[in-house]
Amino acid sequence: MPIKILDQAVVSRIAAGEVVERPASVVKELVENSLDAGSSQISIEVKDGGVSLVRVTDNGSGIKPGELELAFQRYATSKIARLSDLESITSLGFRGEALPSIAAVSEVEVVACATNNPSGNYLSLKEGVGVDRGRRGRARGTTISVRNLLRNVPARLKFLKSATTENSHIANIVTQYALAYPEVRFSLSIDGRKALRTPGSGQLMDSIVEVYGAETARDMLQLGGGDKKWEGGTTSASVRVTGMVGSPTISRSNRNYLSFFVNRRWINSRLLAWAVEEAYHGLLMQGKHPVAVINIEISPEEVDVNVHPTKTEVKFRDERSVFGAVQKAVRRALVELAPVPGIEEVATAYGAPGQSGRTLWTSPPTDFTPAASPPAATQPTPVMSLPALRLLGQLSGSYIVAEGPEGLYLIDQHAAHERIVFEKVLKQSSQREVEVQGLLEPSTLEVSPGQDEVLKTHYQGLSEFGFSLEPFGDRTYLVRAVPALLHSRDWAATLRELLDSLLAERNSDWREKLAVSISCHSAIRAGQVLTDDEMRELLRRLEQTDIPNTCPHGRPTIIRLSTAQLEKEFHRT
Ligand code: ADP
Ligand code: MG
Repeated sequence: MPIKILDQAVVSRIAAGEVVERPASVVKELVENSLDAGSSQISIEVKDGGVSLVRVTDNGSGIKPGELELAFQRYATSKIARLSDLESITSLGFRGEALPSIAAVSEVEVVACATNNPSGNYLSLKEGVGVDRGRRGRARGTTISVRNLLRNVPARLKFLKSATTENSHIANIVTQYALAYPEVRFSLSIDGRKALRTPGSGQLMDSIVEVYGAETARDMLQLGGGDKKWEGGTTSASVRVTGMVGSPTISRSNRNYLSFFVNRRWINSRLLAWAVEEAYHGLLMQGKHPVAVINIEISPEEVDVNVHPTKTEVKFRDERSVFGAVQKAVRRALVELAPVPGIEEVATAYGAPGQSGRTLWTSPPTDFTPAASPPAATQPTPVMSLPALRLLGQLSGSYIVAEGPEGLYLIDQHAAHERIVFEKVLKQSSQREVEVQGLLEPSTLEVSPGQDEVLKTHYQGLSEFGFSLEPFGDRTYLVRAVPALLHSRDWAATLRELLDSLLAERNSDWREKLAVSISCHSAIRAGQVLTDDEMRELLRRLEQTDIPNTCPHGRPTIIRLSTAQLEKEFHRT
């Protein structure tokens, strides 16, 4: 599309505000322009925290000589043309404001070549006005140099932090885009020092190695593609979640290692950070945060990027489904790929990173099969489908000991039963077939003001799970029936615990939370002696679950000791 000035109707709909807050904003806008121009190489050079110089060179489409001056006009853009384009933005830029805003507060020189013969044109601007122009040789692409940023606005210059701080903001921006675009070769030089260089191989893993180091990269787990079973039937938008997350063995003490991209636009999102942290629930220590690099592919109509001038915030049409899709994709990777403790082979079966081969943003695996099959001789049992097990006995009244084709299996009876009940409860509630137990005498349940607030929004939904509740005066409910599974248990405690956890994390999936609470409170306990028949029944039902190897909290249900491992232990010399 040629560059054109947007008409007033479109301009009035563009979120107004300052684009150039600090040198890093200039870097962000220029890099986004280079990416929009289809570049495969982008190099960024900064001096003195970006105040003396920000230069971005790319090998993209370039700018035609006749459009150079136009590109620096306010609201001039080649990326959208009419009002309806705002509804489905596919480029990073669309406002036509970055170049004029930058030029207004600095000295800019642009050299661009839009053809394959290496002759380009340049234009110099001072305070937004063209002062020099002419021809200059260069290969296809664009170089924009920004000097003396904010020197003509001392009031704003004063608010900049030290060069070190500004550099770290710049490095962060480049890092994020390097992660988002592994197929682009990025290089960042700060005061003549190489700060970052990515190979542009197209492999996300390669970018992660450059950004976070090989050691962290080794512990990253790949997210699968969207699988209907996990996204649930409530997803109205089709959301695809790809990328990598750290295994729970690596954690950080802040949230700076969470990167989110929506259609590869880097964004800040507390919602998504929360969705990821929810997925790690119970797997990281208090105060620890995960490492994650996540791209959300969603149809452009389902997301509004025109909410903030810096385009770092987006609004999803259906926040809940995005939240759910991210949380489930991460959880699944953790459950599926995180190694079962103590058994190296099982970890390899799930393609621990390094084993599973490198992966592309564009081709995440869409099923449960490990990316690389281990050699046949050591082919371990895929834990996702438990083999038929032969009962040997019970250990300490808490663990079931069984034999399987690959060796000895120890099953945590409480965790295993939780998994069985969890899946059963979810299935029954979705089929509206929950086993309900009426109470002989209706019972009253008094709740706190906070719990009451949650209960008001959920008490009807709770009936799907077998709770029959009616409002009964001030913060009191009349309970007529409860899920049969909880009948002889402390169902009031289960309910209160659920309300408290929903109060703490309002956006979470309450159905899943409820199923977790019910399963946790109704499952057989550790220390409970079981008969052989009971244990056989438990094993049989565990084999039939979708994810037999973890409980709903994500903890392992099974530990396996392979015959090969036993042999190694016994014949060690
Ligand atoms: P926007 O990106 O919102 O369109 P900008 O002010 O950032 O607005 O850029 C204006 C126009 O200049 C762009 O629409 C694009 O046509 C052109 N342009 C800017 N930078 C580049 C570049 N690196 N390569 C090719 N074209 C560019
Ligand atoms: Mg732009």
